[in-house]
Amino acid sequence: MSDIVCEYRLESAGSKLELVLDCRTCKRTQKKSDDRCIDKIIRTMENEYNINSILMTNYALTQFQGDALELLHQFVGLRTDLKTMQERKVKPDLSKHCEGCELKPSDLFAKLRELLYPDFDRFTAQLSECVKYLNASLKELDRESRGGKKNPKLCLSCIGDTYKDLTYLFIHYRDLAKQVAIKGFLVVVE
Ligand SMILES: [Zn+2]
Ligand SMILES: [Zn+2]
Repeated sequence: MSDIVCEYRLESAGSKLELVLDCRTCKRTQKKSDDRCIDKIIRTMENEYNINSILMTNYALTQFQGDALELLHQFVGLRTDLKTMQERKVKPDLSKHCEGCELKPSDLFAKLRELLYPDFDRFTAQLSECVKYLNASLKELDRESRGGKKNPKLCLSCIGDTYKDLTYLFIHYRDLAKQVAIKGFLVVVE
C-alpha cells in the first residue's frame, strides 16, 4: 500500500471539515485504484477527526455522504480499535513462549488491521481462523486443567487478552459485515 499517492487537503467551513482527495495524481482510472483511494481516505480519517464530508476528484467528482460516509466511519472505528488491540502489551507469562505465539496481539491484530480495507474478504477469513485457533487453544487449556498433557506452546497471557479482544472485535465485525451486505460495499453518491 506504499504506492498510494492521492494528494489531499482539508477544507474547513465553520465547524465542518471536508476532505478533498485529488486523484489526478494517483491516476484513478479503474476499480483497483478506487479501492486504494478509499483506503487512503480511511487512513486519513483515522488521524483527522471531525471529517464530515469527502470529495474525491479527478475527471469527475465523487461525493461521499449519508450511508457511504457512515460506512467509512465504521471502517475507521474498527481500524482504531484494532490499533489499540495491536498495541496491548503482553504480560510476561509463565510459559515464556510468546515469541512466535500465534495469538500475540502485536502480530495478530496488525495483520487484521492491514487486511480490513481493501481486502474485507481476506479479513473475514483471517478473523475466523483466529477464532478457530483460539477456541482450539481454550479446549487444550481445559484438557490441561483436568490433568491432560501440558502443551508448552500455549501462551496463557495471550489467550486471556486475545479472547477478550477477539470477542469484542467479532461483535463489531458482524455489525460492519451486515452494513456492507445491506448497503453495498460503499454507496457512492455522485
Ligand atoms: Zn486516489
Ligand atoms: Zn503469547
